[in-house]
Amino acid sequence: MKILLKGGRVINPENKFDEVADVLVEDGKVVKIAAGIEETADKVLDVSGKVVTPGLIDLHVHLREPGQEAKEDFASGTQAAAAGGFTTICTMPNTKPAVDSAALVRSLKMRAQEVGVVNVEIIGAVTKNQEGKELAEMGDMLEAGAVAFSDDGHFDPSAKVMLNAFDYLHTFDKVIINHEEEPTLIEDGVMNEGHRSAMLGLKGRPTVAEDIAVARDIMLAEYAGSKVHIAHISSARAVDIVRQAKKRGVKVTAEATPQHLTMTEECVNLFDTSTKINPPLRAQKDCDAILEGLKDGTIDAIVTDHSPHAQEEKDREYIYAPSGFPGLETSLGVMLTDLYHTQKLDLPMIVSKMSYEPAQVFGLDAGKLSVGAQADITVIDPELEWTVDEKEFYTKGSHSPFVGRKLKGKAVLTMVKGKVVMQEGKILD
Ligand SMILES: [Zn+2]
Repeated sequence: MKILLKGGRVINPENKFDEVADVLVEDGKVVKIAAGIEETADKVLDVSGKVVTPGLIDLHVHLREPGQEAKEDFASGTQAAAAGGFTTICTMPNTKPAVDSAALVRSLKMRAQEVGVVNVEIIGAVTKNQEGKELAEMGDMLEAGAVAFSDDGHFDPSAKVMLNAFDYLHTFDKVIINHEEEPTLIEDGVMNEGHRSAMLGLKGRPTVAEDIAVARDIMLAEYAGSKVHIAHISSARAVDIVRQAKKRGVKVTAEATPQHLTMTEECVNLFDTSTKINPPLRAQKDCDAILEGLKDGTIDAIVTDHSPHAQEEKDREYIYAPSGFPGLETSLGVMLTDLYHTQKLDLPMIVSKMSYEPAQVFGLDAGKLSVGAQADITVIDPELEWTVDEKEFYTKGSHSPFVGRKLKGKAVLTMVKGKVVMQEGKILD
């Protein structure tokens, strides 16, 4: 099967390629990138005016399997990913039960093969049942195909356990991804601590909870000589702590979400639980610092932290509603609307932070649009205007703070291993 993508602006962050060219795909691989390819193909797609990029990669997704299929499953979650332009997503282990054994990693990989429309990578738990007490069988999970480890959802309070985990992974050169909020400082807070939380009478979660957690994990990883990846960074001070650590050679990487880049605590109101996320939406100065961090290389990846919940769970009062919302189908549109069309970030930078660089963080063989690479490709129409409508979501989740927003820019084609799985927003069989 030969597919020819004709006349698009091809961006490959790996070698800073950025030119109008044709891309020829054959038997699941990219075989030629050049202007005016004349070869006959089974399918020729005119993508002039569009941008052709490596398939987008999301390092931080909650697919909710096993155990919470009412919120999401591998079928609905990977369809949402394809609709949003993602070809590889990495799913977090805070499921029921937690993914803390090789057997579970294997069964999820099989499940992904059976029902997934995009590539799914499995993140294993750092500790048994994510309880922060005893290390999980990380070596066995690696053998079964896990790509990284995390007790995401919360912070592991024991520095001793975390140091043991970093020590253990040192020889494997694999990453631990940490949710950075020190629990005694956040307790049952539901939004950022500040003027807005005081005004609404809601309990806050201060930025210092994140800052000291980030500092601790960087110190531990540095001491062990191991890799740490800071999940969904949201505080200005934390960005600077990562920046300083990178300068002195610590193996630290970091990710940020579109919501933490583009929304503040001012968006929080008592009647819309979609803005309830952990860590919470912060202040404008934090958004600005995250943007600076992206530009100067402190922050490596844009992730969605796709966290779907069932409608009735999110329909509760603000303080009782679960945290998180589904982001796979809005992430690219928000990035293009609020950061590209406002001239804050250029297109190659956004593409790099959503494909090539995240692949580097986990050491995935992906995120490249070059001859010989697997044909995981996303075609983006940066000018396409659309309105976010949750009725059109493939995810089972609802209650996104972006619902109703007019966005400019969208993925119009997603190709996985040479097969078109999404075109014009529709998932193909
Ligand atoms: Zn988290």
